[in-house]
Amino acid sequence: MRESDRLVTVLTPGFGKIKIGVRGARKIKSKLGGHLQILNHALLVIHSGSAFDIVSGAEAEESFATIKEDLSLLAKSLYLMELTDAIIPEAAPHPDVYDCLLSALRLMNSRKNPDIISACSEFKILQSTGYLPELYRCVSCDTEIIQGAHGFSPRLGGVICIDCEGYGASSSAISVEALKVLRYMSRVETEQVADLNLNLNQQNELNQLLGQLITTVLEKKLNSSVFIEHLTNIRSNQ
Ligand SMILES: [Zn+2]
Repeated sequence: MRESDRLVTVLTPGFGKIKIGVRGARKIKSKLGGHLQILNHALLVIHSGSAFDIVSGAEAEESFATIKEDLSLLAKSLYLMELTDAIIPEAAPHPDVYDCLLSALRLMNSRKNPDIISACSEFKILQSTGYLPELYRCVSCDTEIIQGAHGFSPRLGGVICIDCEGYGASSSAISVEALKVLRYMSRVETEQVADLNLNLNQQNELNQLLGQLITTVLEKKLNSSVFIEHLTNIRSNQ
């Protein structure tokens, strides 16, 4: 790699997450670099190289300009990117995650209910990578959950009945409405969730539950989640 070259991580439908070398990407007039900007959906021509595969052609098909001009949409989109990058290993195809991310960017670029789209996409990424939380039976004793008598345990990966909660299993409260939304998300496509109308408390609860689940799965907090929290605090204090 030369000094003007750059190594970028891209998500592909067929090969999963891969690192590719871009010749001259750091040069100001680099055409390739322009097409490979963050969040871009691009068509790439990739050649095998000795150390890394090298991209020899790139054509941006969608650049999601609306997202890039809106700090809140941008933060949500970067959070989904960071989550994807952290949760899937390199070179393992995940076409479901690819479709989910592309659909999330398109919906957010159309500004259609970005809060719920972002939450649903986080949930779908977890679902596609094998981290779908249990939403119907107690994760501790396997009895069917009775509506209203349950908590949620991110560590055990789902809902927990009131009896098991009492025996010291760590859990947080989850409202009946939030559980219904999660169950709905597990059954339908993200586009359908865009029509849901959640109030601020319900949206906050959903964000908190998903945040706890993601932090538990990844065993760390994502950098962009801290940024989103700051952004939310600034806005709520205005
Ligand atoms: Zn139980």
